[in-house]
Amino acid sequence: MAPKSLSCRECGTAYPLEARYVCEQCFGPLEVAYDHSALDPAEAKRKIQAGPAGIWRYADFLPFAERPRDPLEPGLTPLLRADRLGERLGLGELWIKNDAANPTHSFKDRVVAVALAKARELGFGTVACASTGNLANAVAAHAAAAGLDSYVFVPADLEEQKLLATGVYGTRLVGVRGTYDDVNRLCTELCETRPWAFVNVNLRPYYSEGSKTLAYETVEQLGWSLPDRIVCPIASGSLFTKIGKGLEEWLELGLVAGELPAFDGAQANGCSPVAEAYANGWETCRPQRPETIAKSLAIGNPADGVYALELARRTRGAIESVSDTEIRAGIRLLAETTGIFTETAGGVTTAVLAKLAEAGAIDRDERVVAIITGEGLKTLDAVREGFRIEAIEPTLEALEAEIGAAEAVGAGASQAESG
Ligand SMILES: *Cc1c(COP(=O)(O)O)cnc(C)c1O
Ligand SMILES: [Zn+2]
Repeated sequence: MAPKSLSCRECGTAYPLEARYVCEQCFGPLEVAYDHSALDPAEAKRKIQAGPAGIWRYADFLPFAERPRDPLEPGLTPLLRADRLGERLGLGELWIKNDAANPTHSFKDRVVAVALAKARELGFGTVACASTGNLANAVAAHAAAAGLDSYVFVPADLEEQKLLATGVYGTRLVGVRGTYDDVNRLCTELCETRPWAFVNVNLRPYYSEGSKTLAYETVEQLGWSLPDRIVCPIASGSLFTKIGKGLEEWLELGLVAGELPAFDGAQANGCSPVAEAYANGWETCRPQRPETIAKSLAIGNPADGVYALELARRTRGAIESVSDTEIRAGIRLLAETTGIFTETAGGVTTAVLAKLAEAGAIDRDERVVAIITGEGLKTLDAVREGFRIEAIEPTLEALEAEIGAAEAVGAGASQAESG
């Protein structure tokens, strides 16, 4: 299979595979179109299974003529059966796709690896991005690994962990007093005047293709079969919709059989333009000014909002939002039942999963996959509240007293639970 062209999502006009993202005819967004005609599904599967242990095993479904060299290969993150969480929520078969297990600890490594491979192929020496945090981490790291110059533009009020974990790579990190949407607008303007590859502006069609690998991996890890439902966070809506595109491609080509899963989208109340449009039956999103602890999802004017709405409705999924309190509880629930510590975005996903399960929107016999997109150590403030550690004297007596006190609290807690 070969990438053929860029194609306008709205009017279908074709363009060559270059650094271009908007249709000159109708201003619609461009995406990569492939020529599937020569593909033999059995041969494609064999090639994937013999491929490298990361996203490049799916190179035939990415916008390259040859598999790129990549010093920091992301992907093949664990898909874990989450029986204890499933039981807690009354679900029969629940899986967690843990995409925190990537080189810079979020799913953004997938999209950046693809965008930077394209940037190198097109001859760019400098890469840049507008980021809500995780993209900054990934661009800085992958640029360092590839020896490219990089500029990273972020809202200045991001979590300190994310800023530090970006600056360490020696990128030029610029904090803007404003929202992500302000930063993104500035980058779109800068893109006109600088000869740079902006991974989520002029390289966006390639960047977004990287998200398909999350769908491919999930299918392969489920023994070449599909889940019935996917619960996934939404910021711009790119990840959500490209998981849909990846599954549709494989269904059409016969690499997997069955039906497209139900797509449930997850947002924070404080930035929920897609959930709001879903709830009101609107076809487009009304921009919001974000105010939430889920900063990685704080995009008030989501570029792929319309397509996310369409996908959720077409597959009989839902798009839900949750409060900051529910996000914190979601982080703890996932940690306590699966051993996975996720960032605020994963708290959003877990809390929306719990909300849908409690509302009876998920049947017990469904196979559900929740997409956990980032690492808890990046948003430590979300779990600081209510946490304390007592230091004791280094004696057995003091230790016994402390254990006794902990047991009393434990007994009280379990009595409260059963009573
Ligand atoms: C970027 C991001 C997302 C989703 O982003 P989209 O713009 O919707 O593709 C989800 N979770 C985390 C942790 C992210 O960093
Ligand atoms: Zn067009």
